[in-house]
Amino acid sequence: MRHRIAVVGSGPAGLTFARVLHRHDHAVAVFERDPAPDARPPGGTLDLHEGLGQLALDKAGLLAEFRALSRPEGQAMRILDPDGTVLRDWRPRADDRANPEIDRGQLRDLLLGPLDVRWGRGVTRVVPGAGDGVLVHCADGRRETFDLVVGADGAWSRVRPAVSSVTPHYTGVTLVETSLDDVDTRHPELARLIGDGSVAVYGVNRALVAQRTSGGHAKVYAQFRAPLDWHARLDPADAEAVRASLLALFDGWAAPVLDLLRHGAAFVHRPLHVLPVSHTWAHVLGVTLLGDAAHLMPPLGAGANLAMLEGAELAESIAAGPGDLDEAVRAFEERMWARAGRWAEITTTGLERLVSPDPAEALALFDHVQPS
Ligand SMILES: Cc1cc2nc3c(=O)[nH]c(=O)nc-3n(C[C@H](O)[C@H](O)[C@H](O)COP(=O)(O)OP(=O)(O)OC[C@H]3O[C@@H](n4cnc5c(N)ncnc54)[C@H](O)[C@@H]3O)c2cc1C
Repeated sequence: MRHRIAVVGSGPAGLTFARVLHRHDHAVAVFERDPAPDARPPGGTLDLHEGLGQLALDKAGLLAEFRALSRPEGQAMRILDPDGTVLRDWRPRADDRANPEIDRGQLRDLLLGPLDVRWGRGVTRVVPGAGDGVLVHCADGRRETFDLVVGADGAWSRVRPAVSSVTPHYTGVTLVETSLDDVDTRHPELARLIGDGSVAVYGVNRALVAQRTSGGHAKVYAQFRAPLDWHARLDPADAEAVRASLLALFDGWAAPVLDLLRHGAAFVHRPLHVLPVSHTWAHVLGVTLLGDAAHLMPPLGAGANLAMLEGAELAESIAAGPGDLDEAVRAFEERMWARAGRWAEITTTGLERLVSPDPAEALALFDHVQPS
């Protein structure tokens, strides 16, 4: 008999898991809180690494389609100091496919393909050991039982409490996101500043990063050390008030750099939370976690990659059956914890160096990762 499997969340982790199972003709119920795929703006761009996110897409049979959609030129990276001096201007070789960029919305649509997601079905909790399996409770009052429930529901996972009492904590770094539309025609000078990929400007305990997405759009991220309630006295809907606060925070930086904030549209506040670096749990029959639900870490280019590879690997080991489902999950968890622990250390140290009292730390980190 085939196992009854559910995944909660249709982010990179949940969709890759479901898509690889689908490729192996294995049914899976995908529960998603959002009422539709495009219910929220999908966010910016993701760089997918050769041995991580791209490997996962290969396991899903989607690597060729990814290559057609992705932007290898988006790997370009320019670093400025706050007075606008260009310190590094790195461009990938024409054949460099190590970390091409793809818009989150494009990746979601690629993974969704033929999957039948249960939109608007937010899960409130899961109860292991309930009768003949794990009981999934939905916000609409419906309940259903499965042999395995996979929590891929992100930072504030509702599945996680079934295996772990740990919750995310604030890193001390806040990120405020804004966007530029039609950047090549409306803001050509900013388009030149950002180039084909990203521009990053590092100051004392703060940074400004802008990244090109497809279709002439760009995302801008202001990152700085601040109390968790930094925005408490600001109305998030009042873009001009947020802009004025940010401009005050980055006071003295070169005018072309500050234009990234001056021309940004709406602002989204994202205080950065993380789970402890080596978050593990005592194995629970019938429940596991993937991606941010298992190992939320600073956003330094690893989270979605790990989430996708984990989704693909768990799906493959289930599909490889007819072994014991629980043994497959246990073995997967050991592998995931070891790999995620290494990346959590790297990204935690990385955040300390990128938003640091000494901006030279950020440059040294870049030179270490991307030697010229
Ligand atoms: C600014 C920024 C830039 C980043 N850049 C990169 C990058 O370049 N490369 C990279 O690898 N990573 C990057 N990351 C990290 C990456 O976004 C995450 O690690 C990744 O999205 C995690 O995927 P996930 O599927 O585990 O969770 P999520 O993407 O958070 O998806 C969770 C899904 O679950 C749904 N959900 C939540 N709760 C429920 C519920 N109760 N019931 C049902 N559904 C629910 C949500 O609606 C969502 O669809 C970045 C993060 C940020 C903030």
